[in-house]
Amino acid sequence: MKALLDLEYQKIAEAQARAAMGFTPPMEDKKPAPEKNANRIRTAKTRRARRKAAKRNRKRKKWRKSRFKSRTDNQDRYSPHSVSDPATATPVSDHQLSTMSPSQPKKQPVDKQPKAVQDSPSASSSSPTDRSAKNKKRKASSKKKLARARNIDATPTATNLKDAFKFAFPTITQTVGSLKGCLRRSLRPLGISDDQVDIIASRLEKATSLINEARPHVFRMIQLFILEEVTTAFSPQGAPGGTDVDPLDLLMNKTSGQTFIRGLMSLALNGKIADKPCKKADSIRSRELAQRVYARYKTIIPDFSPINTTDIPLGDMQMEFGLATVVCLHTHFRKLPSTVTGKMVKLGWSKDVIPLVDGEVPSEAQRQQDKDALDEPSTTTPLGSDEHATDDDGCYKFEAGFLRTWWGHLLSLPAEKRPVFCPQPKLRDTFVMIQERAVKRILWGGTVKNNPAKNIMETILSFEDASDYVDSDYGRILETLFYGRRRPVGHDNDGGPDLRRTSYAKRTTTMAELAEGDPSRYGYRSLQDYCNRKLAYLRIAANCREEDVPCTQSPPEFPSNTNTKTRYALNNMIRSNGLELQILAYDTKHEPHGGLDPVMRIEKVLPDEDAIARIFQGQIPKCRGWDPGEVVAAALCLIEHEGEWNGEPDPGDPPVTNLMIRRAALYSPTTAARSERVRVKNRKAQVVPGEGIDGGIWARDVDPTGARTEVPSIHNMESRLPPKGQVTVEDFEESVRVKVSMEPLLREFEGSRRMKKAAWEEKKSVRAELDMAVAAILRFCGPEPCVIAIGNGKFRTGINMSSKHETLQSLFAKKARAQGHIVVFVDEYLTSTMCPACTARGETSRMAKPTSRSCVCLTCGRWINRDSVGAHNIALIAEQWLFDQSRPISLLRPSVPTSYK
Ligand SMILES: [Zn+2]
Repeated sequence: MKALLDLEYQKIAEAQARAAMGFTPPMEDKKPAPEKNANRIRTAKTRRARRKAAKRNRKRKKWRKSRFKSRTDNQDRYSPHSVSDPATATPVSDHQLSTMSPSQPKKQPVDKQPKAVQDSPSASSSSPTDRSAKNKKRKASSKKKLARARNIDATPTATNLKDAFKFAFPTITQTVGSLKGCLRRSLRPLGISDDQVDIIASRLEKATSLINEARPHVFRMIQLFILEEVTTAFSPQGAPGGTDVDPLDLLMNKTSGQTFIRGLMSLALNGKIADKPCKKADSIRSRELAQRVYARYKTIIPDFSPINTTDIPLGDMQMEFGLATVVCLHTHFRKLPSTVTGKMVKLGWSKDVIPLVDGEVPSEAQRQQDKDALDEPSTTTPLGSDEHATDDDGCYKFEAGFLRTWWGHLLSLPAEKRPVFCPQPKLRDTFVMIQERAVKRILWGGTVKNNPAKNIMETILSFEDASDYVDSDYGRILETLFYGRRRPVGHDNDGGPDLRRTSYAKRTTTMAELAEGDPSRYGYRSLQDYCNRKLAYLRIAANCREEDVPCTQSPPEFPSNTNTKTRYALNNMIRSNGLELQILAYDTKHEPHGGLDPVMRIEKVLPDEDAIARIFQGQIPKCRGWDPGEVVAAALCLIEHEGEWNGEPDPGDPPVTNLMIRRAALYSPTTAARSERVRVKNRKAQVVPGEGIDGGIWARDVDPTGARTEVPSIHNMESRLPPKGQVTVEDFEESVRVKVSMEPLLREFEGSRRMKKAAWEEKKSVRAELDMAVAAILRFCGPEPCVIAIGNGKFRTGINMSSKHETLQSLFAKKARAQGHIVVFVDEYLTSTMCPACTARGETSRMAKPTSRSCVCLTCGRWINRDSVGAHNIALIAEQWLFDQSRPISLLRPSVPTSYK
């Protein structure tokens, strides 16, 4: 449950989930395309325009049809482009009309965005297996559409509800526990034994590990493709002999990119691409390309054989893999410019050679240089701006020639300093997204025989029921399998002590349930209304931006309110690496900014007397200072005034309480896990046949003659891996050969249950330590609301680890604010060198440091622990700020002579 409420995780998870879930980013991020778009290749533009026009025509036809039918039904007409609620829609359209000038109609953005919402179901249902099936499917889908068109207030079906939810709510991820544990908890009440649960769990585990095993090959095939295109064939104009394709353009395209990657995945897993009839030229070409790349890859590793020899169907999971990989590629190549320039800066290149990155206006010389390199003027738009986002997947576009330009810069670096050119898969298993559909296929198996889980699953749900749930009741299967149904706690009214609900289901429910229970808020119609209003608002805002006038409209109110008990609506996906289970859910409370403001400086939070009086209602709160340090993660100091606050800083020596949280406490789980890892990796084993040591990892290279063999340790093998940043095809081929020979062993180690479990335990214990620290600080702060000032210093961890200080601070800020405390940053200039006792009296006295851990003031003769000095001074700064918005004289920066204002 803690995990459920954890905003910290949410923020990260939200971003991840959003990135991994689909191509449509949150609408706020999307800027409608401006008409003038200088840096597109013309041919691509016209092609796209033509495709778009054709699509629009088809849509229009369909829509006319549906409109006609619905009229005869004497019901509300429905158009995907109209705003359904007239009451709220009128002002929007009026405003829109007035802002749209007839000379410059902004038609494109107007009808584009609703399409993105409306299109997705039809797009996903366009690849049937044969002609008759295709026709059947088309009929079914048009029927569905008709039904949808006819009554908007329809009962929530899987498709329309999913769309509406996806648009209206942010997605969050929560780690809920181990795969097996969750299954046991929820299936035991249904009469499934632990042995049977193990069978189910191992099947899911197997499916994810298969995907993980194929992943490195796919990544390498992609790298091979990009490398070959960029070094030999690719040019913006299409050099003879090349494929006439910008590799990134192909990969980032929603259709062709996914088809390509899924094709590769399918080839790596099964050795063949599913032979679906397909008319789309894009898809056919991508599939051919995938075949070609696969064939080329096989020339490098002649004995490469497909991985999936089991009966596990993996089709739906491949789809997720395609999505995730596109996202991964995108983030990698987006970072390429800053990585390359960063390296250049580090190596001390002169300023005028270093290429420009994101947001900078290129100099004339630079522009010319790039022009020469590319032979086309594409550097006028700063990289990474959304100006050129014209498509649905516009944000996944790169400028034409992007790859080539940056590849050129990368080549100018010395070979050993070159960064990784293409994303590399890790040896450890990563999370795989699993849709309900995939869960159904893996566990129930469908038509596949020899599925040991099928009989067990039939006792839980029949195959037909499962299919039904997948089609219409989103989240139900996941709920049944992993969380159990909600049951009253403490009552065993329907028999058995096992009937207890799991804590994970406490505030989670399925989308369908929400929509049924509260249709005015979560029903399809109200969500659709919200979407329409929001889109209208976005259009207006975009128009205003373009005309450079301030936007008067405010964003529409969200249909949710605080009365709803359920916070999370289950998505139809889980994520798993075979051991941990993460659920994906929609956050119905819909806090658009992630819920929390960052910690800000005291001058901003409490700018003047009025603000202070308003916030504390006349009461002057106590002040705590928090000095983050390198040895002591948090030294805290509380100054307690005797008696009443008399309007002045206390002249005497107020009692001071200190609390220290050692850094070692925060880092120890990580360091412990690390040293354990090193120990295991360095272990050497002597192997004699029949004397298996440590499972199968070391027992492979056994000498057939029976002699004792010393096998290399994992560490030895790792150090023999080739460097990552190869930039020529030859280097690449060589490195692939080396990797492929060693990877199975390394993967077996890194992806083993044992290592996964260790990683998970580490994560949990890090979290527990942080929680303990936060709880200790909160106890120290007490129940009364107070001001907690944190020194805003920067620090190195010194041990090559990410700083836990920031994690601790933000975690603490979240919890402290929930209790009414005010958390602020203060400038920690001089705070650890001046004597706090003298500072409190308005005097200036530096402290001497006779020993390593203590300080002595030569003026007042006090001995103080070095770490608490800083905390004490920080508390004093906060205190004086509350009193008269100034800073103690002894701690003033020389540049701000009298007051800090
Ligand atoms: Zn002193």
